[in-house]
Amino acid sequence: MKAQILKQVAPIDEMPLELVDMPTPQPKPGEILVKVSACGVCHTELDEIEGRLPPKLPVILGHEIVGRVEKHGAGAKKFNIGDRVGIAWIHSACGRCSFCRGGEENLCPDFQGTGCQADGGYAQYTVVAEDFAYPIPERFTDSQAAPLLCAGAIGYRALKLTNLQDGQALGLFGFGASAHIVIQLAKYKYPKGRVFVFTRPGQKEHQALAKKLGADWTGATGDAPPQKLNCAIDFTPAWSPIVAALKALENGGRLVINAIRKEEKDKNSLLELDYSEHLWCEKEIKSVANITRQDAREFLPLAAQIPIIPEVQEFKLEEVNQALILLEQGKIQGAAVLKID
Ligand SMILES: [Zn+2]
Ligand SMILES: [Zn+2]
Repeated sequence: MKAQILKQVAPIDEMPLELVDMPTPQPKPGEILVKVSACGVCHTELDEIEGRLPPKLPVILGHEIVGRVEKHGAGAKKFNIGDRVGIAWIHSACGRCSFCRGGEENLCPDFQGTGCQADGGYAQYTVVAEDFAYPIPERFTDSQAAPLLCAGAIGYRALKLTNLQDGQALGLFGFGASAHIVIQLAKYKYPKGRVFVFTRPGQKEHQALAKKLGADWTGATGDAPPQKLNCAIDFTPAWSPIVAALKALENGGRLVINAIRKEEKDKNSLLELDYSEHLWCEKEIKSVANITRQDAREFLPLAAQIPIIPEVQEFKLEEVNQALILLEQGKIQGAAVLKID
């Protein structure tokens, strides 16, 4: 099969992913072999490539996978050959620890990420345990469904963790793949609420997309929104939006950080944190880590029902380095997806 592999960590500008021919993996007992038709490109992949989140090496990245079941491993029987399935960031968890038993398998110490500790979907084929694959609702094309599996599912989890109530004000910091899905979810679940979207200054296209998807206000990170925020989600890889979001929070407000790693660049901006201005009056900060299978199982049918149709920009498997560079530069509208033959 053809696959894009990462052999060693490097800056994305060096275009380190390499297209190779390699043996097609074979499904072990309980696993399925999936012929990949689309795989989303996620910001987490930049963290892996550049070493902020070191993957196993060499690795096939990609954790927003849509494809069809090609072959069963021994004992696998949940899906038929040809069924369309999705694979998300959660590739496996131990199933025995207190987190797994308590419904928080996303926090399992043995959590394995797809395309990180296990090979993912930047390839023509991939394998996964059948219990970690999901049926894809019919109303989505393969490319539309791909970003739902990470950007969508983790956004769903992040929104749940905010404890937002209908009628309240929500702030979204950064407007990429995940935020553009969350705004649609928030507008559906909390129709009386208001959503304020903050982007890098000058990201006029992102702000226009946010308006189109129902944002009540858009501005640059650091601008004062028309009212204080009851909840905020920070989707950015930077630190300064944390300070800006805390400043904009209402008393008792909660900030959820939806980022697996933060970049070093502007870490000093945290020194601007002022206790009375940013934290006093019971403001909270919480991160969102990974997803559970339950998140994916709840979110996919809900996305179909609303419906949330992600805006996608398609690339060929051969163009993955270029797609990642555009993503790094904030130039992707909606979500980038590899279309794989
Ligand atoms: Zn992701
Ligand atoms: Zn566990």
